[in-house]
Amino acid sequence: MPLKSLLITLSLLIACQASADAKPAIKVHRYASAPYAWNTNSYWLESSSGIVIIDAQLLRSDAQYFAAMIKANGKPVLGAFLTHPHPDHIAGFTELRKVLGEFPIYTTQLVKETAKTNYQQFVNSSFAKHFGEDRITEVTVPENLVKPEMRIGNMIFQIKEMGPGESPDHIVIYQPDLKALFVGDITMNHHPAYFGEGRPMMIIAQLNKLKAQFSDAEFVYSGHGDPQRTSVFDQQIAYIEAFIAEVKNARAKPDALDENGRLTAANRKALSKKIAGMYPQLSYFGYLPQVITEWNVYGAEASLMETQRQ
Ligand SMILES: [Zn+2]
Repeated sequence: MPLKSLLITLSLLIACQASADAKPAIKVHRYASAPYAWNTNSYWLESSSGIVIIDAQLLRSDAQYFAAMIKANGKPVLGAFLTHPHPDHIAGFTELRKVLGEFPIYTTQLVKETAKTNYQQFVNSSFAKHFGEDRITEVTVPENLVKPEMRIGNMIFQIKEMGPGESPDHIVIYQPDLKALFVGDITMNHHPAYFGEGRPMMIIAQLNKLKAQFSDAEFVYSGHGDPQRTSVFDQQIAYIEAFIAEVKNARAKPDALDENGRLTAANRKALSKKIAGMYPQLSYFGYLPQVITEWNVYGAEASLMETQRQ
């Protein structure tokens, strides 16, 4: 090989090595609560530069265990993302900051504006009261807004604002070196999609968007359940579509509805039992299958009635 081409080959090899070295080694860690606290996942990504947290747990005790894991690692916390404002994702930030010190928390404008009011509703609800002392009463409102491309330490993140669906607003976070997509509760692996807030069709639209916009993604990290491949998108779409079809059928039967145009309480209970029975393999966030399914029936009906009105 002539000296000139040998030198070119060598410099190319060095350049390739340099770009391979430029990719930081990143590890994904997960903290998952027990069913009592809704099987809630928080993640932390670790590189040589430090740690980035995604979501923060529901209960004080879980947030403290989660913080202790991070503290034992010894690296600095560089920042955190909040995927959406539900209590099982936001509450623990108050405890995390007590143990780990100040770090920026990134979310959307809407979540930033509504976090306090939304959280207060939860604190006063019957879902919260039975947690007693383990209930976090003071919420930490994220101060920082996400941008489409963010670099935190030596880690790159792509953020997409997904709008309302499972919750009033939602982001997803993509780490391209890992091909890892953190989707919050837009998917729930081994759990039913949750649309008790009445937006099942918006969740389907979000899932289709994720399929189109993150075709490179290989791993999907959900707010509940184990990490999955992107096949989880179609699983969740199929669950929601089958669910809506059942609700439509039930509503079309004679004497199905009450004076408000909703399924009668007895019909709703019977339908919830039937649908829960169709998915015995799923985990229901520590609640009885019929309970979560009934909330989803309520949400599915709200969506169908809204469409009828339009
Ligand atoms: Zn959740």
